[in-house]
Amino acid sequence: MAVMITDECISCDACAPECPVAAILGDDSDKNPYVGEYFYIKPETCVECVGHADAPRCAEACPTEGAIVWDMPYSVDFEEYYAAGNAEGKYMIRDHKKKGLMLPSVKSQAFLEEISMDVRESRANVSDSF
Ligand code: SF4
Ligand code: SF4
Repeated sequence: MAVMITDECISCDACAPECPVAAILGDDSDKNPYVGEYFYIKPETCVECVGHADAPRCAEACPTEGAIVWDMPYSVDFEEYYAAGNAEGKYMIRDHKKKGLMLPSVKSQAFLEEISMDVRESRANVSDSF
């Protein structure tokens, strides 16, 4: 991912229209593993706004403390992490007809290198980093 939405989310829809790569799904999407509960960010699509903005736009728009937090980079170093999370139902990674599951080894994504692994592992609030 990148960044992830937690159960603190109040489904206000302030974030989704701000995403430059349409990575955010509403709580009514059947591609959202938390359908009926709260919004979801597709880790295979999120680029942490690299090349689009200085900071994640979704977090800037979100009014709810703790609703958008850091997750791990969508890079091959975290292939197993995302594969396991997908198998557990934590993520719902796209299953491409020809390419198969779009894990980082199929297509990795940009991420903010200045964000430390400690900050990511602790699931810190994204807006606190800027
Ligand atoms: S960090 Fe940027 S690319 Fe990722 S979900 Fe938020 S707005 Fe979209
Ligand atoms: S802006 Fe925050 S509270 Fe609103 S839908 Fe997005 S993550 Fe949830």
